[in-house]
Amino acid sequence: MNGYAMLKIGESGWIEKERPVCGPMDAICKPLAVAICTSDVHTLWEGAIGERHNMILGHECCAEVVEVGSLVKDFKPGDRVLVPAITPDWNSLEAQAGYSMHSGGMLAGWKFSNFKDGVFAEFFHVNDADGNLALMPADMPAEDACMLSDMVPTGFHGVELADVQFGDSVLVIGIGPVGLMAVAGANMRGASRIIAVGTRQVCVDAARGYGATDFISYKDGSIEDQVLSMTGGKGVDKIIVAGGDCGTFDSAVKCLKPGGNIGNVNYLGEGDYVNIPRVEWGVGMGHKQITGGLMPGGRLRMEKLGSLVTAGKLDVHPLISHVFKGWEHLEEALFLMRDKPRDLIKPVVIIED
Ligand code: NDP
Ligand code: ZN
Repeated sequence: MNGYAMLKIGESGWIEKERPVCGPMDAICKPLAVAICTSDVHTLWEGAIGERHNMILGHECCAEVVEVGSLVKDFKPGDRVLVPAITPDWNSLEAQAGYSMHSGGMLAGWKFSNFKDGVFAEFFHVNDADGNLALMPADMPAEDACMLSDMVPTGFHGVELADVQFGDSVLVIGIGPVGLMAVAGANMRGASRIIAVGTRQVCVDAARGYGATDFISYKDGSIEDQVLSMTGGKGVDKIIVAGGDCGTFDSAVKCLKPGGNIGNVNYLGEGDYVNIPRVEWGVGMGHKQITGGLMPGGRLRMEKLGSLVTAGKLDVHPLISHVFKGWEHLEEALFLMRDKPRDLIKPVVIIED
């Protein structure tokens, strides 16, 4: 089969590989549509998880099942499925402890385009199919279904990590597609004020639609100066970090009220350390919690998030700024994600309607 792979850090291209083998609990699927992620950019061009040779990229798609193992109960060939970016081993001790995304070791629930070949291929392998796949709602367009792989669950996980409550003032740092879903999630959880940080006008417009009330640009001075002046020097109750770099935590801690939480879902592609400002962190006693997390995967979450879309409570369509048709456009879409033109939010490549 053909797959689009990371050949080594900074180099990618189409390669031929053996079609993956289906174990008893697994499924083999073929993508109906794939989406490109900023994480693909970190992995391929920044070498953020280290060197990988001839590893097929991609972890966001919806798909059709073509083969299932003998122990798979709930899926059969021909089923159209939602595919989470993170596919844990559900019988692992880490999953039993509540951290399925780290099943088998830190971040090891993230298998596609990390520990095994990803979804930018004619066929891909899904472990623990009953635990990880979910049926795709019949009337859901393939490009929308791709947003449920990663953007919705990651943005919403940022909201969970920040523990947004009714009436909270919330700062969302970064309003690419992940941050936009954090805005939407914070809004659903009852945030009163949502301050969004980003500069691309398409993202600002989408953030307004998802419930952001105030906007700042990280290019117009420090985030903390702007947030503190907007909040009478008090800062905000909760912060979700979905953009920026290691230095962003300095600003976030300075913007947070004591007792608040910072939920980071940003993939820190570069740098060795995250610095926490000592004084603004309450000289170590400020009750300012910082948590960083990988999105949880799993069928139950996919079904629930999918039901938000089918119930009309969450419209993922505004995330999709570029739609291509056919594998031959995959590389163009990937390069677009690297270059981030001003009109880009999320590119999708439809393989088969
Ligand atoms: P984008 O690059 O599309 O968006 C990044 C956002 O951050 C933009 O709004 C950008 O602003 C803003 N930004 C850039 N630089 C700064 C800065 N210095 N300070 C503050 N804001 C800044 O990314 P995505 O939304 O696609 O992804 C966000 C992150 O989430 C990525 O690192 C991605 O790898 C990660 N991720 C994590 C997952 C997880 O499970 N934890 C899963 C999926 C993705 P501008 O408008 O100027 O571009
Ligand atoms: Zn992704």
